[in-house]
Amino acid sequence: MTIPEGVSSTDFAAALDGFEQAVGRKWLFTSDEDVALYRDAYSPFYGEPEEPVASAAVAPDSVEQVQAVVRIANRYRIPIYPISTGKNLGYGGAAPGYSGSVVLDLKRMNRILEVDDRNHSALVEPGVSYFDLYNYIREHGHRVWIDCPDPGWGSLIGNALEHGVGHTRPEFRDHFDAHCGMEVVLPNGDLMRTGMGAVPNAGSWQDYKYGFGPQFDGLFSQGNFGVVTKMGFWLMPEPAAYRSGRVSVFGYRDLITLVDTMNHATNSGLSNGFPGLQSPLYNALGNPERTEFLMTRPSPDAVERYARENDVPVWTCKLGFLGPEKVIAAQWEATRQLFAKALPDAGFADGEVFRFPLSPEQAAKVQTPGYPEKVEFGIPNLSRFGFVARSEMNPNPADGELWFSPIIPKTGEAIFKAQEVFRTALDEWGHPEAALGFFSLPLQYFPRSFLLLFALRVTRSPEQNRQSRELFSRLVALAAENGWAEYRAPAAMMDEVANAYSFNNHALRRFQEKLKDAADPNGIISPGRGGVWPKHLRETQA
Ligand SMILES: Cc1cc2nc3c(=O)[nH]c(=O)nc-3n(C[C@H](O)[C@H](O)[C@H](O)COP(=O)(O)OP(=O)(O)OC[C@H]3O[C@@H](n4cnc5c(N)ncnc54)[C@H](O)[C@@H]3O)c2cc1C
Repeated sequence: MTIPEGVSSTDFAAALDGFEQAVGRKWLFTSDEDVALYRDAYSPFYGEPEEPVASAAVAPDSVEQVQAVVRIANRYRIPIYPISTGKNLGYGGAAPGYSGSVVLDLKRMNRILEVDDRNHSALVEPGVSYFDLYNYIREHGHRVWIDCPDPGWGSLIGNALEHGVGHTRPEFRDHFDAHCGMEVVLPNGDLMRTGMGAVPNAGSWQDYKYGFGPQFDGLFSQGNFGVVTKMGFWLMPEPAAYRSGRVSVFGYRDLITLVDTMNHATNSGLSNGFPGLQSPLYNALGNPERTEFLMTRPSPDAVERYARENDVPVWTCKLGFLGPEKVIAAQWEATRQLFAKALPDAGFADGEVFRFPLSPEQAAKVQTPGYPEKVEFGIPNLSRFGFVARSEMNPNPADGELWFSPIIPKTGEAIFKAQEVFRTALDEWGHPEAALGFFSLPLQYFPRSFLLLFALRVTRSPEQNRQSRELFSRLVALAAENGWAEYRAPAAMMDEVANAYSFNNHALRRFQEKLKDAADPNGIISPGRGGVWPKHLRETQA
């Protein structure tokens, strides 16, 4: 067992005793076999001495039990690491960032406390997964949609606290932004509610976010200021229909106008489904002849010539529309006119109209090539794991992934610059094959920015993982030099990522540390999360 540094074995044993009394013997896990289940299968330090591992885990079933556990941890200064469903793969899994922490596993707290389909919201506990809420909504005949990430086994609370993202309308797919009201156990065991939840019997906890006075909800996202025990989320009334439309261009530099016009369509609300940028030309997977052409690093003119000769668009933009059928037909028509005016040579293709609830025939089409994915209709599933599994296209899959995920401005110029910067560096650093990955275009989970997402291989080979870690660090530093920084980071990489947010000699971090010292003087909640370390570990860890 890895006891947290600086904690005596007597104090640790006393704390475990206290935890056991709080939750019952069955729900305290101390055997190597049980604790190993909290390892991060995607850890870039897997099997190495630096791999952060838990000392024990404790699984309360009620808010009172969480309060009891937190008070005991605070008394004995035991670092604890709350998780909801613990599926944060790619960003740390269920493992703590600081070795020796006790995982506070909230999976058993999986009650759906309310679904309001008159004003469209839900109030849930941390262990409620997207599958749970989706099934509950269907079983109870509510006509509301959830917005889920690719893997449906994660939790609404854990995902939102990580700034996780989904695939329906912009106001729902930024999951933290779509929350309304929190209940939090503070580091001293006190219980606090935010927003209208602070008003006894308000009845509007899930309806108005701010309440009155300074707002603190953000402290608990990617933060280490408390244990969230309830959270409200806004849901979307089930729309009548969905349709998509695709715009194609053959000019290399048309990307700039394509993005600007897409921004106009999405920011004005004309298009409200999940938008996607693609490059049929650069997507050369399974096309050896085109891969060879791209490996020659062709000039923009050569790319354009190739595109026209082979009738493959260089760029396409997919736009989605959710709403009444006549309205979305008109929205697509207006969107086409916008693009036709801005890009007179653009081509257009209509997608199929889907009506909700889906007929069995239409349900069978979803998630098949050329049709929308289930997550675009708020249907949780696990099919995205297929991409990372062994297949004909991917005969040598990794055991896990380390995700480099910088935010860049939402312009065509920024895409060109990011591609050039990363491609040149990866060529120089001897990873020309990795450079091709940067042509998978940025994602648009967040309404006003692009997210580049690039997976580095994690295997069971320490040497491979060392290379991936080194590459990750170089990419983070290179991104920072260009004004780009990551929106989220694996636990093991949080300090490096937080370092990029350095304006005015790290004023942001200095403020975060001041708050941390005041709210959690013993530094027990998730040390190091978000790059914020408690005072007693700041010198040695940060
Ligand atoms: C193939 C693949 C595809 C993915 N696609 C997506 C995607 O589309 N969108 C996306 O967002 N993610 C995606 N992920 C990442 C990840 O799997 C999900 O974000 C997942 O929902 C996170 O796990 P979780 O919900 O169980 O959160 P948890 O692991 O429970 O929590 C995440 C972190 O939040 C903190 N936390 C959790 N609960 C609490 C609490 N109650 N109080 C205080 N702090 C808490 C902890 O630090 C914890 O480590 C993907 C991963 C893979 C492998």
